[in-house]
Formats: sequence, C-alpha cells, structure tokens
Amino acid sequence: MAAMSNETAFARASAVIPGGVDSPVRAFGSVGGTPRFIDHASGAYIYDVDGREYLDLVGSWGPALLGHAHPQVVAAVQTAAAKGLSFGAPTVAEAELAELVRARVPIAEKVRLVSTGTEATMTAIRLARGATGRDLLVKFAGCYHGHSDGLLVAAGSGIATAGLPGSAGIPEPIAAQTLVVPYNDFDAIKAVFAERGDQIAAVITEPAAANMGIVPPEPGFNELLRELTSAHGALLIYDEVLVGFRVSASGWWGLEGRTVSPDLFTFGKVVGGGMPLAALGGRAEVMDLLAPVGPVYQAGTLSGNPLATAAGIATLKLADAAVYAKVDAASATLSAAVTEALSNAGVPHRLQKAGSLFSVFFGINGPVRNYAEAQTQNAGAYRAFFHSLLDAGIALPPSAFEAWFVSAVHDDEALSRVLEALPAAAMAARASLN
Ligand SMILES: *Cc1c(COP(=O)(O)O)cnc(C)c1O
Repeated sequence: MAAMSNETAFARASAVIPGGVDSPVRAFGSVGGTPRFIDHASGAYIYDVDGREYLDLVGSWGPALLGHAHPQVVAAVQTAAAKGLSFGAPTVAEAELAELVRARVPIAEKVRLVSTGTEATMTAIRLARGATGRDLLVKFAGCYHGHSDGLLVAAGSGIATAGLPGSAGIPEPIAAQTLVVPYNDFDAIKAVFAERGDQIAAVITEPAAANMGIVPPEPGFNELLRELTSAHGALLIYDEVLVGFRVSASGWWGLEGRTVSPDLFTFGKVVGGGMPLAALGGRAEVMDLLAPVGPVYQAGTLSGNPLATAAGIATLKLADAAVYAKVDAASATLSAAVTEALSNAGVPHRLQKAGSLFSVFFGINGPVRNYAEAQTQNAGAYRAFFHSLLDAGIALPPSAFEAWFVSAVHDDEALSRVLEALPAAAMAARASLN
C-alpha cells in the first residue's frame, strides 16, 4: 500500500504552497488533472508517491541528459557533500567547470557561475547595459529567459511595441525598457534597429526557440541579429540555458556551425547536471566588466556551490560524443513514431525539431515560425494526447508549449512503451478534434 496518493500530496501542498507547486507549469494547469508527486527517479524513469512508474520525457526540463540519478554524478555529489555543503569562498572546482564550458564553447572566454538561468540572463543584460551605457533590450515574443522583471514582457504585436508587463508586479517603466519583436521576423528586427539602434544595449534570443514549442531560426536569422547588433554597437546574447550542452557538445552555437559569434552566452539546465547551477560566459573584455574587476555588480552566497559544481563537472565529463549520438538516436526514433501515429490517426499536426529537441503542434499543418503561429495550436488535442500517455505510464511535459526531452538512456526498450501507447493516444487526440 502506498503511504500517500498524488491527491493527498497535492492537497497537503496546496494548503501551504501557492497552487501546491514551486514552479507554475508543474501544477498541470494547462492539461488538467492532478500533478504527479515524484518520490524518486532512475535512468529514463520516474516514480510517483503512488508507486507508479513513468517513462519520463521531461527530464527535469532538460538537465537529465544522462538520465536520472546517473551513478557517477550522484557519487560526485556525495563526495562533495561529505567535504562540506558551502563555503562562501572560492574552490578549484569552479575553475574546472568554467574550463569545461570554455573547452566546448571557446568564445566563452570567461565564465561566471550563478545558481539559476534567471540569474544568468539577468546578469548578462546588466552586463550589456553596463558595457554600452544604453538601456533598451530587444527580446522575441515567445522566447523565455527566466522570470526577472524586464524579461516577463508580453508578446507585443507589431514592431517595436514597447513591452507591456506580462505579469502583475512589474512596473510599466521597467517593461518599457524591453522591445518585443516577433521571432524570425527579419523586417521587424531591421525596423527596430533603424528606429532605435543607438539606444539598444542588447538583443537576447533563444538561438533556437524552445519555450513556445520548438521554433528553429530561419536560415540567416541569427546571422542578421549579429550583423545588426554589431553595426549599431549593441551586444548579442545567446540564451542557451535550454539548448546548451543538450543539442550538441557545444550547444546550438556548435550545431549551427559556429557561424555566429555572440558577445555573451547564458547556460543552465544541463550545465548543472540537475543541481541549482547556471552560468554566463563571453568575451573576456565584456566579462571583465563584472565585479570585482569591473563596475557591474553581481554576487551570490551560493554561487559556484560545491555540490552543484561537482554535478556539473561530472555531467559535462560524461557527456561525450557517444552520449550525444544516443540522445540524437532516441529523438529520431521517437519523433518518427509520433509523426506516424498521428498521421495514421488523421490528426493534423506539425512536428518541429532543433537538434534532438522536438515538439508537436496539434491542429497545424504548415511551419510554425513564431509565437503567434504557435498559439494557433489545438490545446485540447494535446490535453487528450497527454492524458492518454500518462495513463499508459508515460510522462510528457504538462504543456503544449514545451519541448520533449530524451536522454542517453532512452534506449529502444525504454521507448517501446511509448511506441506501443502512441496509436491510442493519437486516437484520443483525434476524438478531441471532433
Ligand atoms: C529554463 C530557462 C531559463 C530560466 O532558467 P531557470 O533556471 O529556470 O531560472 C532561461 N532561459 C531559457 C532559454 C530557459 O529555457
């Protein structure tokens, strides 16, 4: 007998935690039903408090590249823990992790470790403003860069709309410092620079967008961002918190062919191996504007935490070419099976990829190039598909706007559960369209 059910766990949590969760998407708000409370995870599987096993296609939203609780990563954290949890003083391991990052992305000449992706992007933007002496930031509608004030800005329609707050609690003057442009819109970004180029500190982008479903850049789009920012003295920030060290050893930047040289990168998720750790890196000249050498302040009691750093080092050392090949193969098998099942069931859909990441837009046939197009997907069909798979012991992301994550241990045996369950899930999605 299970000691507790998901229902009682959710009720208990909801009494003391807003919405019962510590990060909103976990609450199943867009798919309905009771969130699964996780007891433990191993390899490709997670286990809830009811004792049920699920094949996991969330992977902690990205970090679990090697699978959950990889023995060598766990051992590295245990060894570090026994030596002390936090010192508030430098450790050699921090330089080792920074070196591992730089070895993969050599134009990230210097690296600073922080605790979350939100902190990394927030710091990169402060750095860009400090470096340029300008205030305006350009971001793309549908790109997510964490939850700091200036980045939670609603998707504005049209060009050069001064952003409106996308959350209560954000002062309009702060939101107004963010200009929101549609992703993949060459004319819109050119127009923004033509109009306000001398006031723009930076463009921040997901170089392959993965937080509105997967929306890869059109050929030449990232190159255009580099051209425009260089021509106008603004910085280009590649937010690789999600894609970094996941879609290739050197992230999207590497997969794209190293054709674009951003001034700054932000990393998170995989780089922390499942522990609270993220990083920013970039040209030494820009990075050295950070305190204590430069005038741009940034700090953190737990920055470069020894347990998190140990997990990151172990993960990056283990993530070799064979690991990326396995992740690519799992993604290819799974995405092909999804397409086949949905096609057989007559469900209109569009599957888009960015390296090994993919997502499915239900009810859409043509390409999805931006957030407005992504929003035309049929959320009800995803809900039906999601719950059919959940009942079959497969955990998809509880939102249609998220990527599917596989790991190096999602082998054929693990994926066979999904392959078997897909036809019924596709029929459930089909039925919801009627
Ligand atoms: C997850 C994510 C963030 C925020 O990272 P947190 O660690 O959740 O604060 C920032 N940018 C991108 C692209 C992300 O996917």
